[in-house]
Amino acid sequence: MSMDTDRRITIVGAGLAGAVLATLLAQRGWGVDVYEKRGDPRVQGYAGGRSINLALAERGRHALRLAGADEAVMRQAVMMRGRMVHFLDGRTDLQRYGRDDSEVIWSVHRGELNVILLDIAQHAGVRLHFHRGLESVDFAARRARFVDPRDGSAHEAQFVSLVGADGAGSALRAAMARQADLGERTEYLGHSYKELEIPPAPDGGFRIEPNALHVWPRGRYMCIALPNDERTFTVTLFLPNAGEPSFASVRSGADARALFARDFADALPLIPDLERDFERNPTGLLATLYLDRWHLAGEAVLLGDAAHAMVPFHGQGMNCAFEDCVALAGHLDAQPDRAAAFAAFQAERLPNARAIQAMALENYLEMRDRVDDDDYLLQRALERALAERHPDRFVPRYSMVTFLRIPYALAFERGRLQRELLVELTRGHASLDTLDWDRVDAAVRERLPPLA
Ligand SMILES: Cc1cc2nc3c(=O)[nH]c(=O)nc-3n(C[C@H](O)[C@H](O)[C@H](O)COP(=O)(O)OP(=O)(O)OC[C@H]3O[C@@H](n4cnc5c(N)ncnc54)[C@H](O)[C@@H]3O)c2cc1C
Repeated sequence: MSMDTDRRITIVGAGLAGAVLATLLAQRGWGVDVYEKRGDPRVQGYAGGRSINLALAERGRHALRLAGADEAVMRQAVMMRGRMVHFLDGRTDLQRYGRDDSEVIWSVHRGELNVILLDIAQHAGVRLHFHRGLESVDFAARRARFVDPRDGSAHEAQFVSLVGADGAGSALRAAMARQADLGERTEYLGHSYKELEIPPAPDGGFRIEPNALHVWPRGRYMCIALPNDERTFTVTLFLPNAGEPSFASVRSGADARALFARDFADALPLIPDLERDFERNPTGLLATLYLDRWHLAGEAVLLGDAAHAMVPFHGQGMNCAFEDCVALAGHLDAQPDRAAAFAAFQAERLPNARAIQAMALENYLEMRDRVDDDDYLLQRALERALAERHPDRFVPRYSMVTFLRIPYALAFERGRLQRELLVELTRGHASLDTLDWDRVDAAVRERLPPLA
């Protein structure tokens, strides 16, 4: 294979990860073709699909900086300083995510983000092919078959290697699974989601505090709302699939109104089209996808949701997918042997994907159930105190995941140690005033080595 051929790659999916990976490789001189099932969102408007907006954090921003997209993305991002918790009695409480405004997350519009990323990819020299849904792959002949969903016409393309950035329902993954056992399993959460909208106020401004991620925790279920730059909020209602209340019991717009009147009373007047939104918008399933194997020798590799879809409760799916892109571009560049590069990528990223998948599941319990309970609030208070007293040793897990780029697996492990400490040190106490701080500090020094 000539050098020229060696530095060619074919990406399936021009969503979030596909566009970023394509850009990173094109900038390094690779010849990149990207095939996308949908039409060009810059021509015909964004076709929707998954969530309307997303929380962007440091891992994602790092990749965007490398791709040269951060500035354009940040121009339309809305800062979220913390969780604004809405209690059942109407009280609210802003729980800051970090120490100050250098530790925040950003709400970005998926459609606008995708458009920016495609522009940047095209500018970097990536060849984008829209209306091309991957249908099947002949790995031996290195030919992929795409279908145009508009007219069913088939189009074939030769490839050197394929990268599957085609999301949770990946067609490339299905084609790979026909060649080898990928160890695939999907665990459904048993909860689903529905998106609703808070429009701008009559004066054109935001109806509620814009610089926060709003949460209405209600035990087994919850609502959240993220701001959009056009002064709207996208509300996501998470409910179990069965039981009371659930998507089985709340079926009509009228049922949804009754649920909101009872459990989310302060949100109800903010959502004038509740019935319409509830009945028109699809109910999205939530699941975690585990694979033991992400690549077929040097022929194909998966990343992002295609490799490790997760539940959205840490707001890290896209961030993790972007981190995958940086890692894969690095391995491809460093290692001319494709199979070795893909294997090194998997070895680096699979344990980290597993860790963030586990933390995302744990965060659901925390968001819907714990943000308003007393033990939790005391542990959070101690967490803040320890983070101040020992900034090099005690970094809250949320911060390690959201504001740092240390491996997810390390954040998971340290988070476990820290949780044990918080539970142990607050046991039997109702406030921080009664703690023996010498004992507390000694325990931190003994159990948590400085974070490099
Ligand atoms: C409700 C919800 C909220 C979320 N919130 C957050 C958040 O706050 N923060 C965060 O970081 N993450 C969040 N996520 C996760 C995030 O959406 C995903 O992790 C992210 O979109 C993954 O990017 P991707 O490029 O791998 O896949 P996708 O964004 O799904 O892109 C896949 C692309 O492939 C295309 N495609 C599909 N099939 C084919 C085919 N056969 N041939 C060609 N192209 C194809 C699709 O059209 C699409 O363009 C959330 C997810 C959900 C469901």
